[in-house]
Amino acid sequence: MSGAKLKAPRGTFDVLGGDACVRAGIESRARTLLGAAGYERIETPAFEATELFERGVGESTDIVRKEMFTFEDAGGRSLTLRPEGTAPVCRAYVEHGMHKRRQPVKLWYLSSFFRHERAQAGRYRQFWQIGSEILGSEDPAVDAESIALLAGLLDELGVRELRLRLSSLGARETRAAYREQLQAYLRANESSLSPEVRERIELNPLRAFDSEHPGTREVMAGAPRLLDQLGTEDAEHFAEVRALLDIASVAYEIDPTLVRGLDYYTRTVFEFTSDALGAQSGVGGGGRYDRLVEQLGGPPTPGMGWAAGVERVMLAGGAPPAASQAVELFLALERPEPELRGVAFRLLGEARSAGLAAQMDLGGRSLKGQLGHAAALGARYVGIVAPSHVVLKDMQAGEQTELAADAVVHAVLRGHHAL
Ligand code: AMP
Repeated sequence: MSGAKLKAPRGTFDVLGGDACVRAGIESRARTLLGAAGYERIETPAFEATELFERGVGESTDIVRKEMFTFEDAGGRSLTLRPEGTAPVCRAYVEHGMHKRRQPVKLWYLSSFFRHERAQAGRYRQFWQIGSEILGSEDPAVDAESIALLAGLLDELGVRELRLRLSSLGARETRAAYREQLQAYLRANESSLSPEVRERIELNPLRAFDSEHPGTREVMAGAPRLLDQLGTEDAEHFAEVRALLDIASVAYEIDPTLVRGLDYYTRTVFEFTSDALGAQSGVGGGGRYDRLVEQLGGPPTPGMGWAAGVERVMLAGGAPPAASQAVELFLALERPEPELRGVAFRLLGEARSAGLAAQMDLGGRSLKGQLGHAAALGARYVGIVAPSHVVLKDMQAGEQTELAADAVVHAVLRGHHAL
């Protein structure tokens, strides 16, 4: 049966060869860096109860209002493909009683996330994030360590033209009072605002700071600022975070207009952007969420975390140095005969058990075709399996020897060590 050609859904993409290697390299750097800093890997399910995100991320956010992939299962339960990682990690922290462990608990993840966004370069409907969360301590050193680790990772990966913006949203109460003040200010200047911002005065007034609309920008330049209204403890906490970042030589700009798209943030918030990216310049960001665990039914537990988009990291030039797997031994058949294939297959197994990167012809090629394929793979040695022996070619030295089949792997290993 034939039919129309099918394509991956809008806003999604396949990860192929070269890209898969770059991604594996990014993952391995993250694992090394975060593992050495004492973070444990966590993976949560791809979907969760919808309520987790409604309660955790917040009903007023764009994510919950219009970007979630939500569906009902056969039992009528509302489920949602995870749009972000912090709420699921907090859910897992409570569910597994991690608050009873020695605090803080440090976790990291690399998972795919789903948001029904307008697809464009750097903005997808399924994308990958590396994220870290520290739960159980409000020490400013937690904030600084968390930010410094992401700075270190992005730097090591070679992300270009990075900028770090930093701010503090203070306590929930400060933010609630500020919200009212900002709403009053926006209403007083309503005629100059863009229709979208006007519509969001009630629901999410802070997003007005994100607007590109000229009239709105002018109004926002004179808007009251949350950073000027922090309570004493919050202001001290923020000062200590900044002092620690200075000690760690992490460069940042204070940006009082920095608002993150999620409701759960308190105190420190930050965002890394890359000028090498276009409109979607956010590479990674995060902040402190001291009330979230409690909001999800757990004991009062402060938390701090970040997430960085793997695709954005790659688009901004971030990739580990290529470490493609060199083929050490390629086994070719002198003639397309089952017995020779059997010998090659056995040698392939032996070579792999001995730790060699080995391949054999799987394409039914002629001997010439196999040698061409081995050259294209950059094979260091090629073993041509003949009925009574194997011709082992050292492709670098341009030499060849005739050996018994049983001696091939040993010879390659020896040659290899002699290199
Ligand atoms: P957020 O959870 O919105 O703070 O996102 C954290 C990071 O994830 C961003 O800085 C981006 O790098 C990445 N990101 C968020 N949404 C998308 C998306 N739709 N497509 C690709 N990357 C994304």
